[in-house]
Amino acid sequence: MLKQLAALLLCVPVTLAAQAQPRPRKVFISVDMEGITGVVQPAQLGPDGFEYQRAREWMTGEVNAAIAGIRASGPADIVVCDSHGNGQSLLIDKVPDDVQIVRGFPRPMEMMQGLDDTFAAAVFIGYHASEWTANAVRGHTISSARLLGVRLNGAEVSEGIYNAALAGQFGVPVAFVSGDRLAVTQLQKAVPGVEGAIVKEPYGYHSALTLTPARGQALIREGVARAMGRLSSIQPYRVRTPVDLEVGFKLTIDAERAAFVPGLTRSDAHSVKGTFQDMTTITKLLQVIANLEAP
Ligand SMILES: [Zn+2]
Repeated sequence: MLKQLAALLLCVPVTLAAQAQPRPRKVFISVDMEGITGVVQPAQLGPDGFEYQRAREWMTGEVNAAIAGIRASGPADIVVCDSHGNGQSLLIDKVPDDVQIVRGFPRPMEMMQGLDDTFAAAVFIGYHASEWTANAVRGHTISSARLLGVRLNGAEVSEGIYNAALAGQFGVPVAFVSGDRLAVTQLQKAVPGVEGAIVKEPYGYHSALTLTPARGQALIREGVARAMGRLSSIQPYRVRTPVDLEVGFKLTIDAERAAFVPGLTRSDAHSVKGTFQDMTTITKLLQVIANLEAP
């Protein structure tokens, strides 16, 4: 009994000390590749490109810069969602040991897989502008090969706006975005308060005036640190529910087949539309209809 009491007394200060420690906040990083510093062409964007291995290093450098920016203001549990191409571009042995990485496709939450309502913020690295943004580097929405734009509640959206709405369903605000000027300003216009780093000035779909990777990473580290410092002033982006979805397809036969899905009807030769309860439902549906077998 006495022994137990002594043990209890010994334990008390330890327990109190543990409680006094602030819990690390959880931050979610979604990383794409078209908006990474220096990336302008397929030469950097896939395993067949002559510069893909280098671009993976630049991408990993930007994720590590974001992690450093997040942790400049305190401890954080971080999940990185590798969201470009095959979902395996990040060099996972080059990120800090205590970070977890989402890899591979398909997955129900696509570019936001792993997010839930326990996260304090989301950070978007290497993002690009939407399909209908002229002269943006690799401007497209979800599938450059198959889709001709995505509209939510009547407004054309980029992947950044779309993923902000998906995060908003969980009450998670988007704190930061990096990419070319059009990617950053498009998100900031739709979702006010998002901090940004512009790492290249776009000339067109396959051309830009770019910073060096080191300079891009410095801007990202500083910008993410600024965003973390004013997180309490950044609101989640919530779209009206149920959500009106309209999806365009490059091939009319894809729109024709997508309209076979219950809940979707043809709105014109290239497009289908429907109304769905929330963003997670739409995210699963979009992945299916954006990946129909080529006719
Ligand atoms: Zn993308």
